[in-house]
Amino acid sequence: MIESQDRQLIEEDSEQLVKWLASFGQTDNGGINRLLYTPAWVEAQQALQAKMKKDGLSTYFDSVGNLFGRLEGSKIGSKTILTGSHIDSVVNGGIYDGVFGIIASLVAVQKLKQRYGNPKKTIEVVSLCEEEGSRFPLTFWGSGNITGKYTLKDAEAIVDSNGISLLEAMKDAGFDPESYHSPRRKDLECFLELHVEQGIILDKTGDTLGTVSHIVGQRRFNIRVSGESNHAGTTPMRFRKDALQMASEFISYIAEKAKKTDPDLVATVGKINANPNVPNVIAGDVLFTLDVRHYQEEVLDAYCQAVFQHFESVAKDQDFQLTINQWMEAEPVEMDSRLMKLFEQTAQSRNIPHQTLFSGAGHDAQVFGTYCPTSLLFIPSLEGISHSPREFSKKQDMDLGIDVLTEVLYKLAY
Ligand SMILES: [Zn+2]
Repeated sequence: MIESQDRQLIEEDSEQLVKWLASFGQTDNGGINRLLYTPAWVEAQQALQAKMKKDGLSTYFDSVGNLFGRLEGSKIGSKTILTGSHIDSVVNGGIYDGVFGIIASLVAVQKLKQRYGNPKKTIEVVSLCEEEGSRFPLTFWGSGNITGKYTLKDAEAIVDSNGISLLEAMKDAGFDPESYHSPRRKDLECFLELHVEQGIILDKTGDTLGTVSHIVGQRRFNIRVSGESNHAGTTPMRFRKDALQMASEFISYIAEKAKKTDPDLVATVGKINANPNVPNVIAGDVLFTLDVRHYQEEVLDAYCQAVFQHFESVAKDQDFQLTINQWMEAEPVEMDSRLMKLFEQTAQSRNIPHQTLFSGAGHDAQVFGTYCPTSLLFIPSLEGISHSPREFSKKQDMDLGIDVLTEVLYKLAY
């Protein structure tokens, strides 16, 4: 058991470190722009490497730019305990997303090293190169390479909004695709990630920690409804085939059905295009998106089936054309129950208020979760705000999260 006063050993505090890392790519309004392979991203990774070295870790980058700080274990042939999060941000993102998890891991390992020296099992702190997919339409490029989900081939056709290819940007950042070796790891015992919740549950309930049981599965669709475009003044209501009217009924049904299906199911229509999109013309054609999330595949299946059957039957009855196109699918991922219990017991023994929840957002932990035992721990986000310069988490919560991570790492590695 690690005593709580061991925080005194630390020279720097978590909040200062988060702010320090946020200084790379900081925007005028206090947010962060740190997109994959940009100069701000390179500077942040290099500064972190220097910090890791100063803390006595041996450091290295893999072929795609994931940064590792390694504390060698004394037990020969032991596997590696990996802990960290991602260094990239969304455009004008907050300073805690990803960064907190890296800093938490760094501080935890620093504390353990100061207090107990080298562990039996190797611990590595990782600063994952990319999670958000904000610059290139390829999320989880960093964790995907470590777990074998992606190789260089998957990036070949990928370009950013300026037409710069991922491979070109990678080369400019100092990671020449010509010298690519698969970063896939075969030595991982587990992956532990601390992250800000990016949701409102912990802030509302007053709990300090959330142990994540599942990361939700997601499905995204484009739904096109086609009717007949015509004059808004001369077409009587009874003769219309108004695609926007039909789409609006479908959109209402999406929300109603979601509420009836399961309290944890979320369904969102976030984007809509009407054609011709003119005030005095009946819309002939409407395209809208549907984003559905839940942590059980069966619930997603049942919901999607019911919704689309309803749409098809209504469209057929009223002579509208309907096309449903799925363009994204991510399966729900269960976190490791043994590690989750270890986090819960540790929080319990320290009288830290905690609860089990699921993650409605995607995280690197979902990629690792299908590859090795993985655990994800949340701390509160003020008012649930995230991906915004207004993102905020309290130092006190960060420190309690770090204390729990430190003790869990101690139990696993020493
Ligand atoms: Zn994140």
